[in-house]
Amino acid sequence: MGEILELDCVVIGGGVVGLAIARRLAIAGREVVVLESEPLTGSITSSRNSEVIHAGLYYAAGSRKAELCVKGRQALYAYCRERHVPHRQCGKLVVASNEDEVTYLEKLLKQAAANGVDDCYLIDAAALHALEPEIHGHAALVSPSTGIIDSHGLMDAYITDIEAHGGSVVVNSPVLSGELTKEGALLSVGGADPFEATARLVVNSAGLEAWAVSQNMRGLDPATIPTRAYAKGNYFTLAGKAPASRLIYPVPEPGGLGTHLTLDLGGQARFGPDVEWVDAPNYDVDPARSEKFYAAIRKYWPHLKDGALQPAYAGVRPKTVGREGGGGGDFVIQGPQATGHPAYVALYGIESPGLTSSMAIADEVWQLTA
Ligand SMILES: Cc1cc2nc3c(=O)[nH]c(=O)nc-3n(C[C@H](O)[C@H](O)[C@H](O)COP(=O)(O)OP(=O)(O)OC[C@H]3O[C@@H](n4cnc5c(N)ncnc54)[C@H](O)[C@@H]3O)c2cc1C
Repeated sequence: MGEILELDCVVIGGGVVGLAIARRLAIAGREVVVLESEPLTGSITSSRNSEVIHAGLYYAAGSRKAELCVKGRQALYAYCRERHVPHRQCGKLVVASNEDEVTYLEKLLKQAAANGVDDCYLIDAAALHALEPEIHGHAALVSPSTGIIDSHGLMDAYITDIEAHGGSVVVNSPVLSGELTKEGALLSVGGADPFEATARLVVNSAGLEAWAVSQNMRGLDPATIPTRAYAKGNYFTLAGKAPASRLIYPVPEPGGLGTHLTLDLGGQARFGPDVEWVDAPNYDVDPARSEKFYAAIRKYWPHLKDGALQPAYAGVRPKTVGREGGGGGDFVIQGPQATGHPAYVALYGIESPGLTSSMAIADEVWQLTA
């Protein structure tokens, strides 16, 4: 190991959230280096999601998710337009498949309004049929401001901005351990050319590994590290034409938003993610899970044909509340005051809607460290 590098800001993790934070700090004039353990940026959870720009309907009023989703969505649409990041504001329908679920939709409408999402409205079965003839239900909630995005196009734009403001993104560079010192932090970085670096500010945005990174940070009070749970979400693609032109969601299930229909920008339909609690991340999709998918999807799309679903991919939600706690949980964003150290910021539980919220999370981190 050679001399110790002296850095200003290090962001650990080159997923969509780490990149958004690095972009924000670089624009604010900090010298930023992103350290990413994988050979490619954005190849973990940021590549394994629904690529939906969420409106912000579901989250409890006053929660970090509600606030940062709504702010982040507005910032994200503006950024996508300005930077020509491929996206489409296709809208979404949350479909009630029985009378009880209609009551849920009424509650959801109020929740959306409480979160500042004021463009949603309810439609009856006939109006639903007129909009999406293949989709069946007693009623639906229409969310016009929901959309889809090319998440890799977004991350490429963030990286362009980081580099344009003097920052850099270094792949194959896992942070192995660190120490919080009086002056800042000392990091030990592995990979083919291991090195050590000091930093005035370290932002732990390591997604599923955020807990491990903090556990290996000497000088950090372990009591600041929240509990951790992993909820895997499996996806199946549809062979053939999509049955709808909007995103179609059932009412949510504990831990996730329900097995929904999303579309990619090419119009290909996929279903998922479901909720499978796991002890450690893994990305195999068990074809046998399709049975539950057929049942869930046929509640709103009865014409789904046998054999039409193919196992696709899976992602894992980093959560601060597990199955025992009901599977909810909020984003945890700890600035220097909350971590107890002026040089350390840590983010935990950045599951959905983290992609949508990325720019708002970045603003928050910048404010906490300005
Ligand atoms: C199934 C599923 C569906 C989702 N759907 C949506 C959606 O439709 N809309 C939405 O808004 N959000 C969605 N999300 C949430 C969204 O995908 C995440 O919030 C977002 O991708 C998190 O980004 P991140 O940068 O925090 O994490 P990640 O993308 O996981 O990035 C963390 C990075 O840190 C790196 N890393 C880990 N340890 C180290 C280390 N020691 N040193 C250096 N680097 C390290 C990893 O390699 C990784 O690249 C979904 C999530 C899941 C799981």
